[in-house]
Amino acid sequence: MLLLATQALPQMREYAHPNLGRLLTPRHFPRLAETLADGWPVCVDNDCFNGYDPEAISRLFAKLLPVPSELARMRKACPFMWEMPGELIAADGTVLERFWLSPPPDELPAIPPNLLWVAVPDVVRCACGAKEHCPKEHRGERCGPRGDAQATLERFALWHTWISHLPLAFVLQDGSEEPGMIPWDAAGLTAVFVGGSDEFKLGPEAARLIREARRRGLYAHMGRVNSAKRIQYAKSIGCTSIDGTGWTTWRRANLPRGLHAAEHARERPVHWQTSLPL
Ligand SMILES: [Zn+2]
Repeated sequence: MLLLATQALPQMREYAHPNLGRLLTPRHFPRLAETLADGWPVCVDNDCFNGYDPEAISRLFAKLLPVPSELARMRKACPFMWEMPGELIAADGTVLERFWLSPPPDELPAIPPNLLWVAVPDVVRCACGAKEHCPKEHRGERCGPRGDAQATLERFALWHTWISHLPLAFVLQDGSEEPGMIPWDAAGLTAVFVGGSDEFKLGPEAARLIREARRRGLYAHMGRVNSAKRIQYAKSIGCTSIDGTGWTTWRRANLPRGLHAAEHARERPVHWQTSLPL
């Protein structure tokens, strides 16, 4: 399992490890092209947990890959629109000509194999009732992240056509377990990213959705995983990567410990609290 760290390229090289990957964010992506060329697994978070900034997100997306034409992205996002034959019909109803709409031109940029996924912007609200997850300095006792699955699905639909050339990760939230709340068939869907509240992340519904994602050949990522115990739990339910700010806060002490845990975690069911096999 990969431990994705938000850190610069020199730190990536210093702590080189087969289980280490880089997590870019709209606020931190220096030497992006060099990181990809170096061969590091690269994933992209949207930082919506800390506040939705569509401009910053767009700047990062544009840096990742050359942006193809609108038509090419539309064709990728909505292939069904080009699968219907057209007919030229005269006023009396006779069919003058039958034709197929032209197939999509091959003008989408190739995705580097080590660019694994890009988290499509999602919606995180606060348990206190605020529209967005409250920033650290304003956090009160009742505050805590609460994913909004319906709003996340709507935000995914809003972005999907424009970024359909990227490998996309859909963010699972509190409520994503309800029928029809995950765009499984969206073109370009490559991963699921488990966000939302701790109760959701560590609950049986998230575990079931991760199993379903893996069965469909998608990556599964769990955000905000800051202990070896949680790393083992994430691995046990089938996650392919995790991230957590704790591993880079006291990097020298924590990052090697996290990488060791990521390397030795086993995909066997364990209880999330006791780590005992189930
Ligand atoms: Zn709050």
